[in-house]
Amino acid sequence: MGNLAKDLQSAENLSNSRTRICSIGKMLVSLDKEDREALTKVLADPLIESSAIARVLDKNGISIGGDLIRRHRRRANGNGCMCPKDL
Ligand SMILES: [Zn+2]
Repeated sequence: MGNLAKDLQSAENLSNSRTRICSIGKMLVSLDKEDREALTKVLADPLIESSAIARVLDKNGISIGGDLIRRHRRRANGNGCMCPKDL
């Protein structure tokens, strides 16, 4: 087995990289496909306020503030979170 395969199989290496994903990213990957697609769609829509998304999430038992949502949305500009741009 090569070094790459060993590293990829090491849970420690992969869990370290997960810390670079913000609360929104973690929440997104925990949702089922339908919810994730719907949320990804509104996050990508610049006409929808982050605070409005936060209110809907809160109503559904997901407590994440508008500031975190704004930071996640800014990642495409290079001044937001570290989540992959296509998350
Ligand atoms: Zn993020």
